[in-house]
Parts: sequence; C-alpha cells; structure tokens
Amino acid sequence: MARLEDAGIGTVLKKLTVVGAGWAGLAAAVHAVQQGWQVRLLEAAPQVGGRARRVMHQGLPLDNGQHILIGAYRETLQMMRAVGIDTDQHLWRLPLNLRRPDGRGLQLPAWPAPWNMLAAIMLAKGWGWRDKLSLGGHALRWRLNHFQAPPDMSVAMLCRDLPAAVMSLLIEPLCVSALNLPPAQASAQVFLRVMQDALAGGAGSSDMLIPRTDLSSLWPDAAVHWLAQHGADVETGCHVQSLDAWLTDPVVLACPAWEAARLTAGIEPTWSAQAHALTHTAITTVYVKANQPLDWQSPVMALHSDAHAPAQFAFDKGQLSPNPEMQGVLAMVVSASTHDRQTTTEAVLWQAKHQLGLGQASALLTVVEKRAAFACEPGVRRPSAWVRQGLVACGDYIDGPYPATLEGAVQSGLHAVTLLSHKRMGENKA
Ligand SMILES: Cc1cc2nc3c(=O)[nH]c(=O)nc-3n(C[C@H](O)[C@H](O)[C@H](O)COP(=O)(O)OP(=O)(O)OC[C@H]3O[C@@H](n4cnc5c(N)ncnc54)[C@H](O)[C@@H]3O)c2cc1C
Repeated sequence: MARLEDAGIGTVLKKLTVVGAGWAGLAAAVHAVQQGWQVRLLEAAPQVGGRARRVMHQGLPLDNGQHILIGAYRETLQMMRAVGIDTDQHLWRLPLNLRRPDGRGLQLPAWPAPWNMLAAIMLAKGWGWRDKLSLGGHALRWRLNHFQAPPDMSVAMLCRDLPAAVMSLLIEPLCVSALNLPPAQASAQVFLRVMQDALAGGAGSSDMLIPRTDLSSLWPDAAVHWLAQHGADVETGCHVQSLDAWLTDPVVLACPAWEAARLTAGIEPTWSAQAHALTHTAITTVYVKANQPLDWQSPVMALHSDAHAPAQFAFDKGQLSPNPEMQGVLAMVVSASTHDRQTTTEAVLWQAKHQLGLGQASALLTVVEKRAAFACEPGVRRPSAWVRQGLVACGDYIDGPYPATLEGAVQSGLHAVTLLSHKRMGENKA
C-alpha cells in the first residue's frame, strides 16, 4: 500500500471519497491527492465536469452553456496549471468589454488599475458628464467602505442614486452575468465582493478570460488524467444513492445543493434543510449559425437586453476556436432566463438579426440549464462546508464570498479538503 513517508508525513495513506466530479469535486480530489490522501472520486454522469462540460452536437464540441472566467479567478487558474493546462493558450484574455454593437458601453483599456477604470469611464459613449461623475463617486465610496454592504441589501438599493444610463450599460450587465439575477433581486454584499476582486484586485483581475476550447478540455479532462496518473480512482456512471456505505472513511460531498440535501436528510437534518431551501435560477445558451462571415473586432459583444431581447452577450466561437467547423457559430447567452426554450430561441434569433445584422442566422442548439445557479439574493443563508465529523461539503452554493461561479466551486473544493486535512493532522498529533 502507498505510504505517506513518500510525502514526508510518516503514516499510512488515509482514504477519502469525493461524491460528484464537477469543478468543486475535481478541485477537492486534486487538492486531496496533493495533501497525501488516497482518493476515490464517484460521478453519477457518464462524463465529469458537471454544469461546466462539453456537449457534442452534430460533431461540434459545444458546451452545456457558454462560460466566461475573469482574471480574479486565482484558484481556478492555479488548479488548471497544476494539472498541466497552459492557461495562456486555453483562454483568450482581453480587458473587460461591455461595448454594444452601437458602440455604447464601457471598455477598459489595457492599463493598470485604477487608471483603466477611470479612462473607461471618461471615454464611455452613451453617458453624459453627470453620469460619469456619479459613477466615479459611487466607485470611490464603495472602495472607501472596503466594498462592504449590509447582508440584506440588494444591488438595486446599493445603486439607487446611479443614473439610468449607468444602470443599463454597466450595473445591470455586470450584475446579471456575475450573480445571474437582476439588480432588484441580487445581493449587494456578494456583488461588491466580485467588484472588489475584479476591479481592485491587482493587475489583470478584471480581464475577461474566454475559453478557446470546450469546457471539458479546459480543465476537467486534464484533471481526471492527472488524478489517474497520481493513483486516484475515478468512477463515472456511479450514482451514489446513500452515504451509508461510504462513511467508514471521510467523505467530501461535491454534488449540487438539492442532491446534497437528499443524501444528508437522514444524517444531518438541519444542514440538509438549509441546502434544500436554496432556490435556483436558469441560464439559456442559444448556439446560432450565421450564414455569413463575422468580422467582429472582439470575440465577445454585449447586447441591448430587455424582456423581448433576452440575450446579454454574444460570443464568436469561430474567432475563439481553432476548429474551422466553428466558423460562423455564435453562443448567445441569456442569464437569469425565464421563458421556455422556443420563446427564448425565437427572441434570440430576433436579436441576431436586428442587433448583430445576421439576417440569415438559424438556431443550432438551445441549452436550457434550469438550475444553473443558486439564487444569490439578499440575506440568502448558504450551508457551511462542515456537515459533521468525517463529512464535509463543497460546491458553488456552500457559504463563501462568491456567487455560483467556477471560482466559487473550486475555492470550496480546496476549503473542504483543508478542513479534513486539519482534522487529520490533529488526530495524528493526538
Ligand atoms: C449555463 C451556465 C453558464 C454558466 N456560466 C458561468 C460563467 O460564465 N462563469 C462562471 O464562473 N460560472 C458560470 N456558471 C456556473 C458554474 O458552471 C458552476 O458554478 C459550477 O460549474 C458548479 O460546479 P460544482 O462542482 O459546484 O457543481 P456541479 O457542476 O453541479 O457538479 C456536481 C456534480 O455532482 C454529480 N452528482 C450529483 N449527484 C450525484 C450523486 N448522487 N452521486 C455522484 N455524483 C453526483 C453531478 O453529476 C455533477 O457532475 C454557469 C453555469 C451554467 C449552468
């Protein structure tokens, strides 16, 4: 049997089971191996990656939903590098760009913070001087308050004095893409935390990092390969029905909130009820095929969005991917989507035609992810990572600074293992 003498700890490797191989479970598994655990990773689906994974359609490597990362996702980028991913090659880095096809909106120049933000505000089209001064004043106040807000405050309350043009061209697109909720329903505390990390988090933090590959190739496939090389067991198609058989060793519960609630109902009812009480919001991605070449300056375009034009962003997959089959393919993203598949698809095609000038565009595939993100509302109570002795949980919904994001999922995976490892070190000392 493998021994931890090799890792310099001086005891027999202890076993750890991770249930769920989304980005949180994979991060937990990789970190646990790095910490000297013997890991078994169990995944219900035939493939790993959870909500951020490849979906093949007519031979094209599309995704379960278009994703975007930002430069502030430090732990995610670190995890990618740890398993051998070249992040510069796999991600297209560009300064934050919320410009619409009509040129209105904010685009940060490639300058260091805070000069990039100041210059972007000064140069933004579609805002008058009063709008710009008001935004500058708010941003300064948030910074002086260390980006803190009361837990029960919404983003709409936080920004109630901001002019309508700033709300529609900046706050609304940022809020809905980061928290998957409109400002009236989104937590100001979590919004400000994302703003702090992105806008005041050092060089490159606010950059958009857009995947140039499908999401499985971006990290999950490489993570599984790394785990196999380092002696971990990864089983797909293994739907854990009950934890009874697994709790002889420590367990990291890395499935989504509703499934974690089911599995813990008879073990820790209070924790289970808290996980069960979370509500979720949807994201729809409409993959569109244009019958003409796209000549966009940037691979991403912000869109004017309202009840009849639901997509907030469009991505030029042809520009992003080296695969020639992706030429003319767009991913149009409807965050906080509320309508059915057909209505959303038709409305997005209308946007492709009238906002992007793609008269002959047709829908390739519409992916509706009904439980894309937990609703990060003011005062939301998120379950803790600690469930009980020998059982910890991770996932984007676990109590932490981030909304439902890849970085939130990865950070919680690392934290869960750290909790167990500290406990184990305590046992070894005793
Ligand atoms: C359409 C869409 C767009 C998004 N866009 C972005 C974005 O742009 N940027 C961003 O940062 N985030 C984005 N997100 C959020 C991000 O994808 C999630 O926060 C993240 O993937 C959650 O990872 P997780 O590991 O916590 O959960 P999951 O991905 O849900 O993983 C849980 C895993 O557990 C498995 N499982 C469930 N039950 C069991 C069981 N009983 N036994 C074994 N296995 C089980 C599941 O099959 C799954 O693989 C988006 C999400 C969606 C859906």
